Amino acid sequence: MFVDNLTHMAKALNLLTFIFLGTVLVTSCSKQRSGQLQETEQHQSLSEKLQLLRFSEIKPTGWLEKQMVGDLDGFTGHLDSIVPDLILKDDIYGEDRLSKSVKTKDVGAITDDGLWQVQFLWWNSETQSNWWDGYIRNAILTGNAYHLARAEKYVNKILQTQDEDGYLGIYDQELRYKFDNENGELWSKATLLRGLLGWYEYTQDEKVLDAIEKAAQNIINNYPINASHPFYSTNPDASGLTHGLMITDIFERLFQLTKKSEYKSYCVFLYKDFSANKLNEDAQIPKLMDSAYKLRGHGAHTYEHLRALSAAAYSSEDTELMNALDNFLKKIAGTTAPSGGPIGDEWIGQREADATTTGYEFCSTHELMHSYISLLGKTGAMEYAEKVEQVFFNAAQGARHPQHSAIAYLKTDNSFSMNGKRNDDTTQPKQTRYKYSPAHQDAAVCCVPNAGRIGPYYVQSMWMKDTEGLVATLLGPSEVSTEINGENVLIKEITEYPYSNSIRFVVEKSGNKTLTLKIRKPFWADEITSSVDYQKEGDLLVFISEKELMDFEVTFKTSIKEHSFKKDEVYFTYGSLVYALPISSQETISKNFPVSGFHDYQYSPLDFARYLLPTASNLTGDDSKITGIFLNERTRKQENRELVPIGKTILRQVTFQRQ
Ligand SMILES: [Zn+2]
Repeated sequence: MFVDNLTHMAKALNLLTFIFLGTVLVTSCSKQRSGQLQETEQHQSLSEKLQLLRFSEIKPTGWLEKQMVGDLDGFTGHLDSIVPDLILKDDIYGEDRLSKSVKTKDVGAITDDGLWQVQFLWWNSETQSNWWDGYIRNAILTGNAYHLARAEKYVNKILQTQDEDGYLGIYDQELRYKFDNENGELWSKATLLRGLLGWYEYTQDEKVLDAIEKAAQNIINNYPINASHPFYSTNPDASGLTHGLMITDIFERLFQLTKKSEYKSYCVFLYKDFSANKLNEDAQIPKLMDSAYKLRGHGAHTYEHLRALSAAAYSSEDTELMNALDNFLKKIAGTTAPSGGPIGDEWIGQREADATTTGYEFCSTHELMHSYISLLGKTGAMEYAEKVEQVFFNAAQGARHPQHSAIAYLKTDNSFSMNGKRNDDTTQPKQTRYKYSPAHQDAAVCCVPNAGRIGPYYVQSMWMKDTEGLVATLLGPSEVSTEINGENVLIKEITEYPYSNSIRFVVEKSGNKTLTLKIRKPFWADEITSSVDYQKEGDLLVFISEKELMDFEVTFKTSIKEHSFKKDEVYFTYGSLVYALPISSQETISKNFPVSGFHDYQYSPLDFARYLLPTASNLTGDDSKITGIFLNERTRKQENRELVPIGKTILRQVTFQRQ
């Protein structure tokens, strides 16, 4: 979430440009206009290469399950009590819907005054709904009866707020759909409906799907396809409005679940209207098609909009959108740190990623991972699976506190202190985000909710379906239970991956049909050993199961890999993990919360040394640690030091220059 420090004067709209673009859109697309949604056959040419399973068909096991149980006992399970004013005491979708009389809202953020404060009006909808989305999904994946009961109660309460015409949202009758400026209409719905979709996929309760479809139809009725401009704003800086593009998440998933093609067309319409309006956002076609244009927008927006463009491009197969998508991916490649963390502290600001000076927001990390998942499904290209693992296992795990229930709002790969400011940089006196907190209310309660979402979104995409069977796209401890060719299939993936690169698969199925099982071969695997035969198909290993029970083990052998970063730095990976040299630190509790056991934590280094790498590489290691000789820059002495996975560190050095 961001607060814009610039003073935003409402700028006069270039009406001529707007009217011209609007006319072209309406005229060229008027033939596609239609009323009620119709069931249609899925166009094979547009179908995704890999299909997401229904949420809850894949369950986490091993360390992934343990982490989710810990989060439910921790910040994800208690956020409503930690920040009650933002969640429990603001019934923003119900009795406290926004009306013309509500001019300000205190969300507890430490900021400068400015016109952007209008954002605060919708902030609690994002905080609440992103939190509930993560909470509901964690409850489902861990099967915890107490949390499931709370989730069910919440869903029923939200459904009761739905108006006769299908409206679910945060505005009263007078305000809704009548905006020419900053607003949270679509964003408050996108965040809310993602949680409801998770609940529907788990329960398969048609009442919930009906409510979501009615809410979607209410949007379509009020912002008619190709005959309205939902992204028109007199002010090009409109954060809630442009977050609202992510309502494409809802329309796209509704298409996948119902096969109603109008949901797809609506994604194309939304993206094109967003792209055509005068907005300070990176993900617009003219900017993406300009090779000199450098990303500069708010990180979380830019990386989530990658997903909206992907949805529009693959729904329309429009060449211009496809080219824009290619260019977007190239631009993003320059903004990601070795951990996969994308610049977002909070603005990208035309910078290239740096391991020490460009921070990444947990929200940006989640959004980029989710966008890569979306591209993985659409393309079937395993390079996106590699990126998803890189971000989840490194940037995300590395921004969680390894012991306490708290996360870093902002984090850098090289993290030399966590006292609120970026590596003790004093140029931003009000910066508080570089610390560990279960809330971060002094900045915004956006990252903690997303820290509860990222795990469930990873898990939902660990297995996908292709036309032949099941594909293990993202690796890790899990259990998948689904139906393939009319037969029930249960697969246990037993492993500590990525902390070990051996995986045992136990496959059980109900009948005698042949089951095709494909397992992704990680790019870094030097050699593969398997206890049963397989065929290679691109980046996949293909196993055929004819018996009712199959039990086999696959090991991906690898070695320490050295990677160049920027001009003269290197970093090391082993398997999917980025390794870091941990720096000992002094912990300070900087805030206590009314809920016992929750605190903000800050860290000062006890060791101020920086390390260089001797000319000849001398590292040895395995899954758990890498050891080698490093040169202490301060003492000029060589020391034998140990690197550990970045997710197990607080303060750390990830990149090294050569001596
Ligand atoms: Zn955030």
